[in-house]
Amino acid sequence: MARYTDALCRVCRREGDKLFLKGDRCHTDKCGIERRRYAPGSHGQRRRKLSDYGLQLREKQKVKQTYGILERQFKKYFYMAERMKGVTGSMLLQLLERRLDNVTYRLGFASNRRQARQLIMHRHFTVNGRRVTIPSYIVRQGDVISPKDSSSKLLVIRESLTKAEHRGFPSWVEMDKSNLRGKILHLPAREEIALPVQEQLIIELYSK
Ligand code: SF4
Repeated sequence: MARYTDALCRVCRREGDKLFLKGDRCHTDKCGIERRRYAPGSHGQRRRKLSDYGLQLREKQKVKQTYGILERQFKKYFYMAERMKGVTGSMLLQLLERRLDNVTYRLGFASNRRQARQLIMHRHFTVNGRRVTIPSYIVRQGDVISPKDSSSKLLVIRESLTKAEHRGFPSWVEMDKSNLRGKILHLPAREEIALPVQEQLIIELYSK
């Protein structure tokens, strides 16, 4: 599976926003963008005005990088969102939020989406009691996500959960910490998705 392997903080600096790709470090003053608030590279400190196309492109890249998705798959989500009832931009973000790797991260079982993806592929998680090893699995309302019994003692999961508790959980999920079970209460509405992007720009980009 192709994946992005460059330094993660460079990605945030390129997009000019914190994308929380690293986990704990993102919440400290060691965060790359806190230290150097300009784009990477030798011309990174130059001021430049983006064209309309540039703005649309950057917005799309920001969302792709946040969820760790490559172009082809992202386009697939866009076409799926177009066919759904509702505002295409909101549906696109909802689909991305419903990915199992994102839900695992939102429930606090992993400190970032990348770690969540690895844990899922290493067969540590179940959905409704059945093992799922596909990070792009789309969860539905009522689904219950939990680590399998033998994985529930994993230090990495326990530690992530403790830290996530301090940050809080989104309103569309319910976490039963004593049983390590997370439930999808309802599908996330746009206002419940904490992502500072203008999805309309992405729609404009793909509608050309
Ligand atoms: Fe982005 Fe900061 Fe996290 Fe690096 S530490 S990935 S710059 S949010």
